[in-house]
Amino acid sequence: MVYYKTKDEIELIRKSCLLVSATLAEVARFLKPGITTLQIDTLAEKFIRDHGAIPSFKNYHGFPFTSCISVNDAVVHGFPNNNVLKEGDVVSVDLGAFMNGYHGDSAYTFALGEVTDDIKQLLRVTKESLYKGVEKAVSGNRVGDISHAVQEHAEKKFNYGVVRELVGHGLGKDLHEEPQVPNYGRRGTGLKMKEGLVIAIEPMINMGRKEIYYDDDGWTVKTKDGLPAAHYEHTVCVQKSKPDILSSFAEIEAGEKANPDLNASYY
Ligand code: MG
Ligand code: MG
Repeated sequence: MVYYKTKDEIELIRKSCLLVSATLAEVARFLKPGITTLQIDTLAEKFIRDHGAIPSFKNYHGFPFTSCISVNDAVVHGFPNNNVLKEGDVVSVDLGAFMNGYHGDSAYTFALGEVTDDIKQLLRVTKESLYKGVEKAVSGNRVGDISHAVQEHAEKKFNYGVVRELVGHGLGKDLHEEPQVPNYGRRGTGLKMKEGLVIAIEPMINMGRKEIYYDDDGWTVKTKDGLPAAHYEHTVCVQKSKPDILSSFAEIEAGEKANPDLNASYY
């Protein structure tokens, strides 16, 4: 069942999304070598709760944390832990917030200090492929148009691995609603989108091959070849002439640029 949202519902989802964005910006200011991903999770949970929301992921199908923090060869769904972050790490942070009955969902990948040009390109291209997908989220287009745009950029142009097992999704009252929004697919296929459809578009792009496996914790998704991966996510509302991006990277990018321990030279 696909739920199209009313104007009021869209504004409530925007509020939840902007809280997620503000939380990711808080993370951007806090991140540095020497801290643990569990410390990031604690910060994010406090920030979300202090703003009157509930972390969407906590206890979702048994997920035990506020954030998914995926470092280097971890693609998504990483467990925050006591491992200490170091210069050169690629850190993806995925967060959700539930407020006023609606979820918001967004993710961002950070590079710590000096990283290779290969990593910079991976981050830039993954972020670009997100926006290539977002551009297609207008009424009359099909979900496959989004999928194709993401895949075309990441896989065809840059020969990166596009993860197949995990996909974007509708969201609203539930964190995951229909339709699924894959990052690969054919133009002109899938659901024909109408105004008011709210979807999370979230390319998960591997520097090497597309194959993944699940770590022993049963959640953390890792690349089979051990190469790094990146993940950026926006929640987007389908509209007539152009998509309405309900989350925002503006404050995150400002935090990233202002933090001397983060590398913002990739885009
Ligand atoms: Mg997410
Ligand atoms: Mg999502």
